[in-house]
Amino acid sequence: MITINSERCGYCGACVSVCPVGAIELAETRLVIGEACVDCGLCVSACPVGALQKGAEGSEKAPLRGHYDVVVVGAGPAGSTAARTAAQAGLSVLLLEKRQEIGSPVRCAEGVGHDLLAPFIEPDPRWISATVDKIEIAVIARGKVETLRAKGGRGYILERRVFDRVLAEEAAQAGATVAVKTSAKGLLLEDGAVRGVVAERLGQRMEIECSVVIGADGVESRVGPWAGLDTTLRLKEAMICAQYLLAGIELDPTCTYYYFDPELAPGGYAWVFPKGEGRANVGLGVQADLATRPALEYLDRFIEGLPHLARGSPVTLIVGSVPVGPPPPRLVSDGLMLVGDAARQVDPLTGGGITNAMAAGQLAAEVAAKAIEAGDVSASALAEYERRWMAGLGRRMARHHRLKERFAPHERTSRRFVRLFALAVGGK
Ligand code: FAD
Repeated sequence: MITINSERCGYCGACVSVCPVGAIELAETRLVIGEACVDCGLCVSACPVGALQKGAEGSEKAPLRGHYDVVVVGAGPAGSTAARTAAQAGLSVLLLEKRQEIGSPVRCAEGVGHDLLAPFIEPDPRWISATVDKIEIAVIARGKVETLRAKGGRGYILERRVFDRVLAEEAAQAGATVAVKTSAKGLLLEDGAVRGVVAERLGQRMEIECSVVIGADGVESRVGPWAGLDTTLRLKEAMICAQYLLAGIELDPTCTYYYFDPELAPGGYAWVFPKGEGRANVGLGVQADLATRPALEYLDRFIEGLPHLARGSPVTLIVGSVPVGPPPPRLVSDGLMLVGDAARQVDPLTGGGITNAMAAGQLAAEVAAKAIEAGDVSASALAEYERRWMAGLGRRMARHHRLKERFAPHERTSRRFVRLFALAVGGK
């Protein structure tokens, strides 16, 4: 019997190419061995990462151990910015990323404002698809369409596949160790305090001790709950999204388009963000408790209704969830800090979270460095991060949440709401 270690598997297809009986199928990112398998073992020899074995799954190897000042879980914008800042402060840093390619698959519409991004990284054509400076908001209520056009500040539609990797490369250049295909599986706890991370790389278990863990593991975060922090989202706080990269369409490459229609995207909105060369990210988000169909069905219907989009072909499909609730009660515990989507630091009005994640990552790393130097990484020492976050961007996010709550989902086509939304899109 051939067994697959799915943590190790790199989904390269080498095993498929050598199987003499066609028993192996690469189902996108999942390898399936069918009943036709004759146990010849050719696939085992072909696997470049040792993910296939003859016989029962291999025994666990002896745990690896190590010690770092800071272990960051997740190499998105929050984690890589935290790792870079901590390494620049002279700390030893390990940045763990469960995916084999940082930044991929993309789960984002990739829009950011120049003024919010520039403090963290110099804009670079390598990861910018389009530069935009106009916004157009179409409000569709009771069959009537009202369009608001405005001059927006300068913004970019990123190429996040490259952007996220460049951020991780910057962390590495600053001295952090980056480990891809390495998943955090749990925390090392001592009397309730976080003392490190249990991780797994290619099936190998590691216990990594550290002074501070920074949980930057995105919307699907487990790090916070492992430490007893409550980050559970209620259904109404989750915006469920689907997006195509459409190719072969015509639109103003300097304008971002938003569509509000309670039928089209209940509780949320649709967007069209130009990516240059006749392409655009065309997607929508629906509030999870209001949607009666999968987000993808709403998206297909939206595109069908607009001939200039319906003409295009989807060359990528992405799906994802955006946390749009209030801030969780705590962002730190003894030896642990949460940043980015893991800390629910997205703008509840727009769903934008890239630059918030970078700001939080930087702030958390600065506070961690100070706490490590003072020899006190207790929750009360790390709470400086919570206080400074809530005195700045966190306060604005909490205000945006309160403002949004004042409008029932069907009132989010009112002029007042759309004005608030336009201000938030402009970073106000
Ligand atoms: P992420 O970017 O999600 O990174 C988390 C990383 O942690 C991932 O790489 C993940 O693989 C890794 N990870 C998770 N668990 C583990 C583990 N156990 N071990 C190791 N690694 C782990 N924001 C904007 O500003 N503009 C937009 O236009 C925009 N559009 C969006 C459209 C959609 C459809 C969605 C879903 C989101 C959008 N967002 C947008 C939100 C934005 O993508 C997020 O706010 C941002 O990516 C948050 O960064 P992060 O670093 O916190 O998390």
